Amino acid sequence: MKEVKSPRKPLIYYYGIVLLILLLFNMIVTPFLLERQVKEVDYGVFMGMIEDKNIGQVEVDSSKIVFTDKENTIIYKTGAMNDPTLTERLYQSGAKFGADIEQTMSPLLSFFLTFVLPMLLFIALGQYMSRKLMQQMGGKNAMSFGMGKSNARVYVQSTEGIHFDDVAGEDEAKESLTEIVDYLHNPKKYTDIGASMPKGLLLVGPPGTGKTMLAKAVAGESNVPFFSISGSEFVEMFVGMGASKVRDLFKQAKEKAPCIVFIDEIDAIGKKRDGQMGGNDEREQTLNQLLTEMDGFEGNNGVIILAATNRPESLDPALTRPGRFDRRVPVELPDLQGREAILKVHGNKIKLADDVNFHTIARMASGASGAELANIINEAALRAIRCGRQVVNQADLEESIETVIAGYQKKNAVLSNQEKWVVAYHEIGHALVAAMQSHSAPVQKITIIPRTSGALGYTMQVEEGDKYLMTKKEIENKISTYAGGRAAEEIVFGEVTTGASNDIEQITKLCRAMITRYGMSDEFDMMAMETVSNQYLGGDTSLSCSPDTQKEIDQMAAELIKKLHEKAKTILIENRKKLDELAGFLYEKETITGDEFMAILNPGGEK
Ligand code: ADP
Ligand code: ZN
Repeated sequence: MKEVKSPRKPLIYYYGIVLLILLLFNMIVTPFLLERQVKEVDYGVFMGMIEDKNIGQVEVDSSKIVFTDKENTIIYKTGAMNDPTLTERLYQSGAKFGADIEQTMSPLLSFFLTFVLPMLLFIALGQYMSRKLMQQMGGKNAMSFGMGKSNARVYVQSTEGIHFDDVAGEDEAKESLTEIVDYLHNPKKYTDIGASMPKGLLLVGPPGTGKTMLAKAVAGESNVPFFSISGSEFVEMFVGMGASKVRDLFKQAKEKAPCIVFIDEIDAIGKKRDGQMGGNDEREQTLNQLLTEMDGFEGNNGVIILAATNRPESLDPALTRPGRFDRRVPVELPDLQGREAILKVHGNKIKLADDVNFHTIARMASGASGAELANIINEAALRAIRCGRQVVNQADLEESIETVIAGYQKKNAVLSNQEKWVVAYHEIGHALVAAMQSHSAPVQKITIIPRTSGALGYTMQVEEGDKYLMTKKEIENKISTYAGGRAAEEIVFGEVTTGASNDIEQITKLCRAMITRYGMSDEFDMMAMETVSNQYLGGDTSLSCSPDTQKEIDQMAAELIKKLHEKAKTILIENRKKLDELAGFLYEKETITGDEFMAILNPGGEK
């Protein structure tokens, strides 16, 4: 949801203005209002009014006399005279002797000015502020609910006509969701037999794999309203707001049932309540409210809640227990077939040249998510426009894979000659070690054009199809391949550079995983010493073993790395001639394809 927020002025700003207004008011307007009714008269008028017994209150001091008429409506003022019988006459006229006539005069008016008016001003300010906040929170298609409610930004969106066909791949996920669609179409079939639909489904998977799309598609297929809100929206505002937003959301949803409620990033409110000190009360209240609402609606009232998360392990168990989000729909990164399908779906929206082969592109983009693939297609179209072409060709697509994966080509980064040679040998080192180990995947493309991501060179390897299992041998080969870059530098220049830092990181990760997670060491056999805590976001691991064991793991990893590094070196020394030839070719051309590489490696032609 794109929304442009005007910069919000701090609250203190508004209250400051009101205070200023009140101050000015009290200094200028109030005295004026009060004074206006004091009428200055001469002493004769005063005496005449005494005679007529037309005096209400009177106050005499050494310099002036202030008095009112019988009805207390007007205050008069006159100078004091030497008049010894004045008091006597006033008494007989029935006047009351009072003090502070000017102030006691209009108790109502002064009460109004000093208490009621400021209060009204502050109330008005409050109203104004909350209306402003509502405007900021509600988008174009937002439905905001009256004052005193939650200001929930729940928007009922037409489902943009998204259907299952628009979501490529993800067949398993679609299959689980088809049941929901069927239920929404024909609830009677389910109630007749006494079955009840799960109230909540959890879409679990890495970012950009189409979870939002799938939720919309369910609404689109079953032709029901679609409410969407992000978990983080519940907790970003004031305390106590989250819970009432949840209440409102469900109230709305129930009115519109049958319908789909989609909560994105549910982990923002559904994190484990671990009873830490200073926990987030607001979040907990919101979560509790959500649980209450879910328990609240009886069996089948047609509100289906879909929630998405990429951190399922961090969710509170209360959320995932039966009766709440008890069904889990995995939405994984697309496989080769899936990637090809996604490319085709998005490729349909642009004009393509005849030479475009999505199968190759899908193979090259191994590990890309649906969102990244959509992005690749768009980048390719942009590149075609930059080149002044009307259609997108294969080269555009291949280039944009690298753009999306490795950052834009750094046009003006200039490598010195020596650096260019080092990078060329480094990259060929990777490729050659990979090619000489039968198990490693063939090289697709090697380039030494620097990228904005910071990589100076780039060796793209392509797996034939997707790999779900790796043998110990394959991992070792992979590690040797990573070590090949540094090994080539050592052999050719007798010197090492910082260029291998990323390789080193990868090698270490793989090596440790072999020992601690894959049970591939003789010493520890099948003992797990590391647990993966964040499967979908980077896969952080945490060690769970004694310090002594840690020391041993470190030693073993170091030895293993050394052994595989030596292996890479041996391969390169044995093929020194090819290494020089290939590096020279890459230095000249800057980019070479896998076929060119193989042609130099095996001039005979057999691969
Ligand atoms: P998520 O909610 O999982 O983070 P989205 O549903 O927001 O991902 O997907 C982002 C974009 O990626 C979509 O708008 C779509 O263009 C593209 N996309 C992702 N997965 C697919 C898919 N399976 N088929 C087609 N497009 C996809
Ligand atoms: Zn490298």
